Amino acid sequence: MRILLIEDEPKVSSFIGRGLSAERYAVDTAVDGLSGMELGQTYHYDLIILDLMLPKISGEEVLRLIRRKNTTVPVLVLTARDGLQDKLGIFEAGADDYLTKPFAFAELLARVKALLRRGPVNRASSIHVDDLELDRLSQQVKRAGKRVDLTSKEYALLEYLMSNAGRVLSRTMIIEHVWDQSFDGITNIVDVYVRHLRSKIDSSHNRKLIRTIRGVGYAINDAGEN
Ligand code: CA
Repeated sequence: MRILLIEDEPKVSSFIGRGLSAERYAVDTAVDGLSGMELGQTYHYDLIILDLMLPKISGEEVLRLIRRKNTTVPVLVLTARDGLQDKLGIFEAGADDYLTKPFAFAELLARVKALLRRGPVNRASSIHVDDLELDRLSQQVKRAGKRVDLTSKEYALLEYLMSNAGRVLSRTMIIEHVWDQSFDGITNIVDVYVRHLRSKIDSSHNRKLIRTIRGVGYAINDAGEN
């Protein structure tokens, strides 16, 4: 896993860099916005850690510029600010998570691991798998051009499956992404919701898109790839 760290304060940079290296991550560092933006646009990183207050180009601008070239890399923002407006601004610019300084390395590491586990993020406004289409703006789902009505949980589950099309997702991964922390673990909840989804998405079509991977979990694929 290769991580780009864009941070101008030498102490913070070396503290994070050493910690991540000790966890066996490959870390490239940039000390200003310009070089960070250039590295971020040039190389394929698995994750970018980005300080907001940077010389030459601000972190928010760096983020917007990186997003023009790379919409999928997860970005964790480090910020000394705590205003709601600033937070909304960084998410709008394409951040995936943020951490307010000062922070404990353990918390940074937990967030880094969570973002890496999630992998590249599909930010396109609509996602297609075979003849199934999900529009994130209108939150509408269509199969073969016909509208499918889903509950909000079914929609969230389908969005997670489609964002990771072709990947096998374990029940634990699905629960972590689709249910919130208050979820107390009815173990077959994922199976129940997948069954609902199948009845709405797949049951009246010959080409089945949702696959069960026995003993592992679920995946969604183009029917031709099954
Ligand atoms: Ca700074």
